[in-house]
Amino acid sequence: MVAMAVTLKARAVFLGGPGAGKGTQAKGLAAAAGVAHISTGDMLRQHVIEGSELGQKARSYMDGGLLVPDDLIIAMVESRIGEPDARSAWILDGFPRTLPQAQALDQILGSDPTRKITHVIYFQVPDQELTKRLAGRRTCAKCGAIWHVDNKPTAKPGVCDLCQGSLTQRSDDRVEAIGKRLQEFHAVTAQPLRAYYKKQNLLREIDANRPPAVISQELVELMQ
Ligand code: AMP
Repeated sequence: MVAMAVTLKARAVFLGGPGAGKGTQAKGLAAAAGVAHISTGDMLRQHVIEGSELGQKARSYMDGGLLVPDDLIIAMVESRIGEPDARSAWILDGFPRTLPQAQALDQILGSDPTRKITHVIYFQVPDQELTKRLAGRRTCAKCGAIWHVDNKPTAKPGVCDLCQGSLTQRSDDRVEAIGKRLQEFHAVTAQPLRAYYKKQNLLREIDANRPPAVISQELVELMQ
């Protein structure tokens, strides 16, 4: 996504609805800049695969399209953000998602200016578009590549172009779970967190209903 090497000392929070593209952008930008990409969704999915105690606790919430309880998520992030690769720069993707999570993050980071959040980016995409993106999203079970039945189809339906692994649909991307996720997103994440970070003068909103390359460029400009 971001072709060039980017110099970035940002500690950024990416906010946006499920399917808004923040994960793809966070991954690309973190790789280009060599900073830690901390995705709570990816971390939880890994726990589920490994069958850890946290994975077992989180699974039913994730399958139902519901948020995993704050205390579990906060403990997981606190431990990850304390690792050496995340000391001076990171992109948080999918966290915080509730006001208590945002407040806990501020407490974890403390008042040291070299640890505090530098940017909060809100990815704006209309709900109708998010629904289309989520319902058609497919993930390779083998290499994790993400495809879309309409927007980014594989040559052979159901088979990954990169590794020939089989494509699966995340259980929380099923139509029954999508409506619930979007409703919860607006009430619990978007409204309170936009207000919280606006007050701190950290919030920047971008139109994320545009081609990924255009969004990448804008992010680099905003964060450099
Ligand atoms: P994601 O890949 O970010 O869409 O996350 C997938 C699922 O993991 C969500 O639907 C939630 O069930 C759970 N999850 C991820 N991040 C959080 C968070 N910050 N707070 C609560 N639940 C989360």
